[in-house]
Amino acid sequence: MTVPPAMIYLDNAATTRCDPRVLEAMLPYFCDQYGNAGSRNHRFGWESEDAIERAREQCAALLGAQPKEVIFTSGATESNNLAIRGTANLYAKAPAGSPGRGHVITDIIEHKAVLDPCKRLQREGFEVTFLEPGTDGIITRAMVEAALRPDTILVTVMWTNNEIGTINEVPQIGALCHERDIIFHTDATQWAGKMPVDVEADHIDLLSWSSHKIYGPKGVGGLYVRRRRPRVRLEALVDGGGQERGMRSGTQNVTGIVGFGKACELCAAGGDAERQRLLGLRNRLEAGLTSAMDVVQVNGHSTKRVPHISNISFGFVEGESLMMGIAEIACSSGSACTSASLEPSYVLKGLGVGDELAHSSLRLSFGRWTTEAEVGHAITSITAAVNHLRAMSPLYDLHKEGIDISKIEWQQH
Ligand SMILES: *Cc1c(COP(=O)(O)O)cnc(C)c1O
Repeated sequence: MTVPPAMIYLDNAATTRCDPRVLEAMLPYFCDQYGNAGSRNHRFGWESEDAIERAREQCAALLGAQPKEVIFTSGATESNNLAIRGTANLYAKAPAGSPGRGHVITDIIEHKAVLDPCKRLQREGFEVTFLEPGTDGIITRAMVEAALRPDTILVTVMWTNNEIGTINEVPQIGALCHERDIIFHTDATQWAGKMPVDVEADHIDLLSWSSHKIYGPKGVGGLYVRRRRPRVRLEALVDGGGQERGMRSGTQNVTGIVGFGKACELCAAGGDAERQRLLGLRNRLEAGLTSAMDVVQVNGHSTKRVPHISNISFGFVEGESLMMGIAEIACSSGSACTSASLEPSYVLKGLGVGDELAHSSLRLSFGRWTTEAEVGHAITSITAAVNHLRAMSPLYDLHKEGIDISKIEWQQH
């Protein structure tokens, strides 16, 4: 009988394991304290409301915000939609359905949960500028400044990119927006909980983040909404019972919110020591792979990247074969499954990485339970898989002989 090899989880940018301490905090709210936080007439309701308000304090503390500035949602996707569509519609310069409603700035390597709401705004009469990063993947203050117009109402730029881990100039872009009285939103799903946030010093008006990316349960997230200097207003996407100060109606997910609060508290306590540990793992992985093989490229800016994400392209291997060769490693590839075909990642394409190289890229992302031994195993396994595939590649032979294959004129037979 063959024992299946233990899986190594290096896909923490997709989701994380729920921390057992988070689960423990949640458990009483399933069967014992099950009240509806909206029930004002009895203790069941009060207990749930107290639990939610405690979680709101824990979440706010992670951001340097006031508890009243945190709105609970179903996750970062909803938070992004609420922030982008909710402000654009409220601050629009012309009535719904008419052109000239206002100008919005974002960029081409945002998560779909930002790109798609922005495209919806375009259909509704807003004009949207999609900034393009350079090959380092960074969106700068200067890029935003060059795109500003007198009718710009909203700028939305993610703090760190989920595929390549690059860090945008968010505090600088926030300062620019505050100088010009423009609302600034950031999708901080891969930043908040991992890196320090201070919504005051960083000049942020709206910030989205998610529980399941920071060792909390899935299906819950937050939106920070600034209350003063300036007070940001939103049009709700979901109307009903008026929960979450009318910005997000619906019976609150008490267990999820309690878990999210605990997850935020644990991340705040982990602080710099955990960042240093993750950085050590990332550096070891990148050094191990780039020193063992040639034609290996780490994507995105060399230093302006968060510690927990590494995106690496391997020349002269086919992407799907590579994924099959490292089946015991759970990670993401540079290909995205669309309806029928495999498309190269639009993020990597956005940095100018060619289609072939994008397909043969891996996103390896680390978390609270990733060990040195697992990273060591990943280096060995990926190196073996790449060497095996290259041994069968005539193109790699040509490359080794010093022939530049991009200059070969292929003959049709
Ligand atoms: C995961 C992720 C999202 C989506 O978050 P959900 O909570 O799963 O909706 C949005 N933006 C970024 C950058 C992400 O990494």
